[in-house]
Amino acid sequence: MKNSIHKKALITGSTSGIGYQLARKMAQKGYDIVFHGLEADGQKIADSIATEFKIRTLYSNANLADPDQVKALSQMVQKEWGGIDTLVNNAGMQYVSEFENFSLEKFRQLFEVNFFSAVALTQAFWETMKKNNHGRVVNIASVHGIRASEFKTAYVASKHALIGLTKTLALEGAPHHITVNAICPGYVKTPIVEKQIEDQARVHQMSAKDVVEKVLLKKQAVKEFVSIESIVDTAMLLLEPHANALSGACWVLDGAWSVQ
Ligand code: NAD
Repeated sequence: MKNSIHKKALITGSTSGIGYQLARKMAQKGYDIVFHGLEADGQKIADSIATEFKIRTLYSNANLADPDQVKALSQMVQKEWGGIDTLVNNAGMQYVSEFENFSLEKFRQLFEVNFFSAVALTQAFWETMKKNNHGRVVNIASVHGIRASEFKTAYVASKHALIGLTKTLALEGAPHHITVNAICPGYVKTPIVEKQIEDQARVHQMSAKDVVEKVLLKKQAVKEFVSIESIVDTAMLLLEPHANALSGACWVLDGAWSVQ
């Protein structure tokens, strides 16, 4: 493994929620981090983590719904750091609607963000990982990559696609010590879910409290949100140098939803 790109990571959607907490933990462990996300304080977050943990950071607000901006993001990272050895495809969006009202345009947008950005970014850094005989790709999928819920056609389909990508790339990466894994959480209390509570309340015509109890956590046997810490710890395990044989798996953290 060449040191030049060792412990350099791009985490999409790292200026909010799960991605942000993972970025903090990785910064603490000495990773240089490319922050990314649409949040208005993204640059400030990247700067303050660089100072707090004495690491190098970059920041991009590329809109992953636009393939040209995804390309510009990977080119910027390539130009500034010559590549990365760790990619976390974490950014994601949700949209809840009855299928008959789900526009094809919205379907495509969701696939660009949740799936095609992961394809394009992984492809952009794959060759460098191969050359360095080392790489780590972690895709934040969802329990909706292995299970379905009504009114979420595009999200469920895009996360299933992300898991298919994960499995196939685990095979292609294996001879080069590149591991590719998916983490599949149940419900985690982050802004993407806060928004869903509002949307679900509209679709189901229920109060926000009833949505949490009767809709969101209905399928989890464990009636608690999945902690961000448990997702961060799982991702950190997958990044370990001794984790070469942990590849191609869907790490299900779903409060015993998918065992049913
Ligand atoms: P979040 O809303 O806190 O973070 C999402 C991030 O993605 C943000 O930084 C946002 O700016 C970025 N993003 C969204 N659309 C984008 C776009 N078009 N271009 C660029 N960036 C964009 O939510 P989170 O819960 O931390 O989500 C992280 C990942 O975890 C997502 O892929 C989500 O699907 C997945 N996930 C979340 C839950 C949950 O319950 N929160 C459960 C399973 C899976």
